[in-house]
Amino acid sequence: MLLDSDEKEGNIHDLAIVCHELRSPLTSIQGFVEAMLDDPSMSFEQRTRYLTLVLDQARLMARVVSDLGDEYLLRTGRVSLSLESIDLAGLARTIVEQFSIKASEKSIIVDVVSGDGLPPIIADRYRLSQAIGNLLDNALRYTPEGGNIVITVNANNGSVRIAVSDNGIGISEDELGKVWEQSYRVKTKSISAKKGMGLGLAIVRSIAALHGGETGAESVLGKGSTFWITFPVCQGGGK
Ligand code: ADP
Repeated sequence: MLLDSDEKEGNIHDLAIVCHELRSPLTSIQGFVEAMLDDPSMSFEQRTRYLTLVLDQARLMARVVSDLGDEYLLRTGRVSLSLESIDLAGLARTIVEQFSIKASEKSIIVDVVSGDGLPPIIADRYRLSQAIGNLLDNALRYTPEGGNIVITVNANNGSVRIAVSDNGIGISEDELGKVWEQSYRVKTKSISAKKGMGLGLAIVRSIAALHGGETGAESVLGKGSTFWITFPVCQGGGK
């Protein structure tokens, strides 16, 4: 298979990201395992603590690899969609339930507000769940304890729009335009278990595009953010 120069460039860029993102968890796994081997009399508690850290880092690496693979396949359109008629508000409620433990851990209330008689959209349920899940995951991650998140679903001009609004840390005007870029993270250069690796929104955008949809965001630093996706309604939808 011959690659054009843009694709080659893209592959080199992806490879550079993989190396960069895997270096730090690998180094820490190496450090903890060496420390355990160097000290055979290490206490059971200490050993368990180190092994838990190693497990955390291994999980992080698994997420890096899976997110990068997914983002690449979606961006380059190398995924096949399994399309069906979907009630977006109903799907949003299911996803909120899936994240309910995460939300209650931070005492964050998540509501879904939707208009009546919304037309269904034709979409891939798994990919749609992934996109909405990424937006909700971010909202939970970047909203402090006791905050509020509202998911609004409404129809307008032949499209259905889902918006995830939070009253979290917000994003400055400067940064807002860049957050959709692959591997862009606001104010952090290194990966950690809490922050993601800057692929979540790139994945959301690719999924929206594959469905003929659009994405956007509004935010005020210190006040909160709204991230939205619109999907076209198929002809004859809503029946
Ligand atoms: P990450 O995996 O780092 O969360 P994303 O692509 O999902 O990557 O988001 C990119 C960046 O956008 C994040 O690092 C974060 O700085 C910012 N961001 C995304 N969603 C929100 C939000 N709801 N509130 C504040 N900042 C956000």
